[in-house]
Amino acid sequence: MGNRLTDNANPINVPLQARLYRHPHGITAIDAEYLYPGHAAAHLIEDAGRAAFVDVGTNHSVPYLLTALDELGIARERVDYLFLTHVHLDHAGGAGLLMRELPAARAVVHPRGAPHMIDPTKLIAGSKEVYGEERFARLYGELLPIAPERVVVAADGERMALGERELELIHVPGHAMHHYAVVDAAHRSIFSGDTFGISYRALDTERGAFITPTTPPTQFDPEQLLASIDRLLAYEPESVYLMHFSRVTDAPRLGTLLKEQVREFARIARAHAGDPDPAPAIRAEMRALFLRLAREHGIALSDAEIEHALRGDLRLNTQGLISWLKREKRT
Ligand SMILES: [Zn+2]
Repeated sequence: MGNRLTDNANPINVPLQARLYRHPHGITAIDAEYLYPGHAAAHLIEDAGRAAFVDVGTNHSVPYLLTALDELGIARERVDYLFLTHVHLDHAGGAGLLMRELPAARAVVHPRGAPHMIDPTKLIAGSKEVYGEERFARLYGELLPIAPERVVVAADGERMALGERELELIHVPGHAMHHYAVVDAAHRSIFSGDTFGISYRALDTERGAFITPTTPPTQFDPEQLLASIDRLLAYEPESVYLMHFSRVTDAPRLGTLLKEQVREFARIARAHAGDPDPAPAIRAEMRALFLRLAREHGIALSDAEIEHALRGDLRLNTQGLISWLKREKRT
């Protein structure tokens, strides 16, 4: 079955199938097909006939999300919310386009993120700085604004109903200032966006999931991130749903592994704060750290394969650490 989206800026009319992963408690992960399959997952929560997305991917993800609704038999008017954990474009870039297709939906955004969903001008400029003009256009296309009356600003600790389920939204800065997480306490599930790191299924071993923090420009802050990870762990979740890539269990072990890396990243960055160009050394030491941890985890891939799996993170994390060093110097 094809989807018919008739937006002039983004003409989409392609028959396709979405990659779906069904999880407990009415939760489905949908591959957002960002960069490559298995990199980014939007999540859909269903409860008592209502539905919500947590993060949506980019404009290019939208047809996959609509196909997923069709495949799951969920009418578009039954989607009440897009919970956008933060306004980085791999999470929220497709929200404006998707909102046009979901008549009852409201976008739920952190107070610091909301202005950027209503007027994406600054978001576009900031992202072009990170990605460059050409790559930005290819990855994200044209960002569409969301009408202010369809945006809900999420206060810290805000509780919202979805069907018969209560969700709690908590502010979790560190990866970005404009980040919140969605806590589904009754089902011991948390949707963490990027705050609880990244866990590619390709790096799973018999010991379970491997995990790494994500520390991109321009707001990464190690102390805030450590506190936010602890705040999530305090709920003792059974499942944590990451954008990259979906469900992990064993949160206590993963939380420890994440915090160890956040502290080590900060140490590495500070050690090279005086370098004329700190990037090569930071990247090299982060790579060495990843390889050591991957070996300890029993990952059998070659060094080159592990580096390939984590290459995007090495680049963005290094950029984010440098931007953090510059902010530290100013204060
Ligand atoms: Zn992010």
